[in-house]
Amino acid sequence: MAQKILIVEDEIKIARFLELELGHEGYIVEQANDGKEGLNKALNNQYDLVVLDIMLPFVNGIEVLRKIRQNSEVPVILLTAKDEVMDKVIGLDMGADDYITKPFAIEELLARIRTALKRKSQRVETSKAMQVGHLKLDMDSYSVAFKDELIELTKREFDLLRHLVQNKNIVLTRDRLLEEVWGFDYIGDTNIVDVYIRYLRSKIDDKYNIKLIHTIRGVGYIIKDED
Ligand code: CA
Repeated sequence: MAQKILIVEDEIKIARFLELELGHEGYIVEQANDGKEGLNKALNNQYDLVVLDIMLPFVNGIEVLRKIRQNSEVPVILLTAKDEVMDKVIGLDMGADDYITKPFAIEELLARIRTALKRKSQRVETSKAMQVGHLKLDMDSYSVAFKDELIELTKREFDLLRHLVQNKNIVLTRDRLLEEVWGFDYIGDTNIVDVYIRYLRSKIDDKYNIKLIHTIRGVGYIIKDED
């Protein structure tokens, strides 16, 4: 499937040129010509990569990057001018994956895009197996193991556990778990979350005499590595 790239660049000539060149390479390309539009697009669409100019009208590239990083891990390559060394450093600190200084050869940008996309797919690979303490989830086979011993879970129990593990060390409210695991259209008692947490505890915490799933009174639940 073709990968989708967002170009945020206010110099229309450069933006057009990049759109054309990246299109030739087989990418699906969208462009935004100021920071506000770029941020809107980046936050409301799924892109595989963002090419982001730093000097932009309305919202500058650094601010756009900061907001993107609050929501997503999408690879970002910064376009910088020669005299923007400080911005480049701040940008990298803020989670940009790479940068390229204008003027640049298109081949170099294409190579950096390929590298960033490859790193991203490797990240996705490794995140397929998730772990808390000795508890390991395998997303491909829908299986859970404690120190190599397989644990039998129902699909719903697995989904609930996966949500907790994906948000390891973050407290999840009952409402959020209900929405994300059971779906918005679930009609019934919100106690269902507590019931399933009990199932998980009996199959994991109680069985192996560990404490991974914690109750945060009046709020919800959290999973974390044992102290
Ligand atoms: Ca610019």
